[in-house]
Amino acid sequence: MPTSSTNRALNVSKPLAPGLYLVATPIGNLGDISHRALQTLAACDVVACEDSRATARLMQHYGLKTPRIAYHEHSTPAARKAILQRLAEGQRVALVSDAGTPLISDPGYRLVQAAVAQGAYVSALPGPSAPLMALILSGLPSDRFYFAGFLPPKGAARRSHLAGLASLDATLIFFESPRRLPQCLVDMAQTLGDRPAAIARELTKLFEEVRRDRLGALRDHYRDAGPPKGEVVIVVSPPSASPDQTAQEDGLDAQLTAALGRLRLKEAVAQVAAQSGLPRKQVYARALSLTGK
Ligand code: SAM
Repeated sequence: MPTSSTNRALNVSKPLAPGLYLVATPIGNLGDISHRALQTLAACDVVACEDSRATARLMQHYGLKTPRIAYHEHSTPAARKAILQRLAEGQRVALVSDAGTPLISDPGYRLVQAAVAQGAYVSALPGPSAPLMALILSGLPSDRFYFAGFLPPKGAARRSHLAGLASLDATLIFFESPRRLPQCLVDMAQTLGDRPAAIARELTKLFEEVRRDRLGALRDHYRDAGPPKGEVVIVVSPPSASPDQTAQEDGLDAQLTAALGRLRLKEAVAQVAAQSGLPRKQVYARALSLTGK
């Protein structure tokens, strides 16, 4: 059923309309919150939050006294129902996550879906979000991008997930834990090829850093330096668009070169075909041209 809504939160001098307000909060620097977001948090009946300690710190910093209720990843349908009930009673509910924009690898979409379905007014107050900040700082093409969220934590699943993205003609953005970053870069260099990339770390915080290099060099850096401290976002450029080398071949070449260094042609082809999900015939033809056979 199509739905639409108008923005009833624009006029801040009027009382806040009943509804659900998705409020972006800082990803590090507490100064990164909009005036309207603070006014909305102050005017709502409750603030639904993931971890009330993170939100408590923010609210305390700005002297906000709005009561908090829990809404996190493992919230039961009952917790959602309780919020929907408040909306049905005409309350104003703000949804925030620990940091950044709610719903972006954070809880909330089921709540928004249900709120829209029951006809509640839903509005959003935009603000910080780590993937967008990493993208714009990366120096990589920003006209078309794909936000991949968190990759599977295990090697084989992660590589097959990456292989599925290898031919996508867009800049790729990933969240990753600092502990898994070194191994993740090994898999990325192998599966996506040696593309330009960036590691954005501790954004908006004291030790903010953006390391820009090719995937192979970044892999070597973190292999030697070990996992970094703090939070990271990985940004990877789209595959090369040269006419005689397709996007898919970029990643395929890197995988084949690595496999051919260790295995015989037939075994290398079998392994790369299994890893990449590409037809064996295509992988074999590419292997022949790489080895000059
Ligand atoms: N909803 C949040 C947003 O809009 O930014 C993202 C939440 S997600 C659960 C947390 C991940 O975001 C972290 O693992 C990290 O990859 C990234 N992240 C959050 N804050 C960051 C920061 N200050 N610097 C770098 N990455 C950050």
